[in-house]
Amino acid sequence: MQPDPIRIVCPACGSSEIETAPIVHHLICAYVGPSYDFETTGGHRCPKCLRALRNHDRAAEIVGESARCRLCETEFIVPHDPAQDA
Ligand SMILES: [Zn+2]
Ligand SMILES: [Zn+2]
Repeated sequence: MQPDPIRIVCPACGSSEIETAPIVHHLICAYVGPSYDFETTGGHRCPKCLRALRNHDRAAEIVGESARCRLCETEFIVPHDPAQDA
């Protein structure tokens, strides 16, 4: 069952051309950043402490979602939608 996609618009320009990425919290060094900050050509690695991350690494948890506008490149946090909890 697929949830309905959340309609997100850019707070700066109103565009709906938005890319989203999970926000990852690396528990070892307390770095928090979007998942693409952890991507390298060879896999996943924390940009702060440079430790490699495995898939489903217990040292990393997803704490939210960030979004970036494709048109004006504004970055913002996706607001939590209470309806998604139902
Ligand atoms: Zn925008
Ligand atoms: Zn780290």
